[in-house]
Amino acid sequence: MNRRAFIKIGTLVFAVGVGCRSEKSREHSSSYAITIDSNRSIGHLARNSFLHSVSEEIKTDVLVVGAGIAGMAAACSLQHREVIVCDLNPRLGGTSGAVTIGNQQFSQGAYYDMSYPGYYGSDGLKLLESLKVITYNKTLDRWDFIEKQHLISLTAEERCYRNGGLDASVLMDSELKQNFLDLLRPYSGKMVLPSSEIGLDSIRLDHLTFSEYLNKYLPVNSDFMEAIDYQMMDDYGGKSDQVSALAGIHYYRCRPYYQKPEPEILSPTEGNYYFINKMVNQLSLEQIKLDSLVVGMEKLKQGWGVDVWEVANDRKVRYKCNNVIYAGQKHLLKYLHPESYKTFSDVKYAPWIVINIELQGESIDNDFWQNDYLSTNAQFLGFVNSRAQTKEGNRVLTAYYCYPDIYHHMVQDLENGAREIVEQTIGFINTYFKKDLEPFIKHVYVKLLGHAMPVPVPRYLSKKRQLEQNGLSFAGADTGRLPLMFDALDSGIQAAKRI
Ligand SMILES: Cc1cc2nc3c(=O)[nH]c(=O)nc-3n(C[C@H](O)[C@H](O)[C@H](O)COP(=O)(O)OP(=O)(O)OC[C@H]3O[C@@H](n4cnc5c(N)ncnc54)[C@H](O)[C@@H]3O)c2cc1C
Repeated sequence: MNRRAFIKIGTLVFAVGVGCRSEKSREHSSSYAITIDSNRSIGHLARNSFLHSVSEEIKTDVLVVGAGIAGMAAACSLQHREVIVCDLNPRLGGTSGAVTIGNQQFSQGAYYDMSYPGYYGSDGLKLLESLKVITYNKTLDRWDFIEKQHLISLTAEERCYRNGGLDASVLMDSELKQNFLDLLRPYSGKMVLPSSEIGLDSIRLDHLTFSEYLNKYLPVNSDFMEAIDYQMMDDYGGKSDQVSALAGIHYYRCRPYYQKPEPEILSPTEGNYYFINKMVNQLSLEQIKLDSLVVGMEKLKQGWGVDVWEVANDRKVRYKCNNVIYAGQKHLLKYLHPESYKTFSDVKYAPWIVINIELQGESIDNDFWQNDYLSTNAQFLGFVNSRAQTKEGNRVLTAYYCYPDIYHHMVQDLENGAREIVEQTIGFINTYFKKDLEPFIKHVYVKLLGHAMPVPVPRYLSKKRQLEQNGLSFAGADTGRLPLMFDALDSGIQAAKRI
């Protein structure tokens, strides 16, 4: 795919940047500044680290690589052991990260979860219960959130911009929608989370795409498929002709999106960083090493040697440990531990861009939380706006773009050319609100996530993977799980159990 085609999709301009993981602020010709958060040169650092010798050896029992939901869940599950967690970023959270504006954290990735039906896996529920996040609701046989102040009101949940107007939802009520939900109803109870517990009788659904499945059983039309594609892209990073029928059916039959009574939706200001905050409280500060990029892993006669590049100190240290839990993105295994890479070489990652727009002095009268946006620019998925996203009277809107997996390098290359996409985003939001918000923009924060989300393409969920070998255990949504908080959480717990 050439750049011209990419620019056509996103109307973007590129400039190639250099340097390590970077966070840059620059003044825009208008009055607002743009801060860009990217780690485009991580692969380069990992490849060149062999040029440096080890400055210090550190012993620990378990080293966890990656402080996203999976790595943090693994560390929380191993509190009886000596654990250290390393992350290449200066902040925890991975794709469930947050940006600090003033003294408030705002979601910069995953931003919500829903109350958990009783059929969800007990290990994940137990961890969330021990973190005092959920409590069992006997009447509804589901796990509800404890901190009700973070719930989104049902009447302010969603609006969908389409054809110049606003609809109540992406998938509008119709006979076709009813037939569609009826078609999927027999799968209730079979589509469970964690996805690793889906029964073998449903696995054949992983061998065809969701669009092949729908075209076989329903007289679908283009409007309906546009809505389904939007929802698949929004949660899975791929359209219905890319994701498997198993993933598609799971979306509508596992999580209680279309069930009564409506589920609780938890979306704190910091988004799913909320879960990271809860988990970090279980650990001590000394256990967490940020700005620490794992650059190599080696099996020793006894245990493992893991080389870590300390970005802030410009030095390489070696951790000697009995076990490693690798919860980082698996494409980096090419450099870190090539023997393990083949287990994950099929994983396709959707790149995402998250843009936080801090407004000042403008009150937005429309208070809908999730604002979907269906237009000819299929990559722009709308923005989140809610009372929860307010800091001292100032609103922060959070916009999302998702790209096909072939664009990850191009998304990272936006490091020096983000202005165009920021302006484009403001244009979309102005169209939505039918007013010009630009004079009220104080600061814009752009996060580039080159390998953000594993896309559940056919055979991704059902592929047999070796998730533990010689004390090295793998965790993460990209271990053949769905790109969801609960699946990532469970993958960390199971990785900890395997060692
Ligand atoms: C934009 C976006 C929005 C989303 N919204 C939702 C949502 O609302 N609800 C929901 O349920 N799910 C959502 N998801 C999915 C959810 O965020 C993920 O499934 C989950 O957070 C993945 O966690 P993880 O720990 O598996 O991986 P990651 O979050 O990718 O964490 C991996 C961590 O490993 C670190 N790392 C990688 N390599 C190395 C290395 N070599 N050395 C050191 N550290 C390393 C990374 O820096 C990162 O912190 C969203 C995803 C995206 C991208």
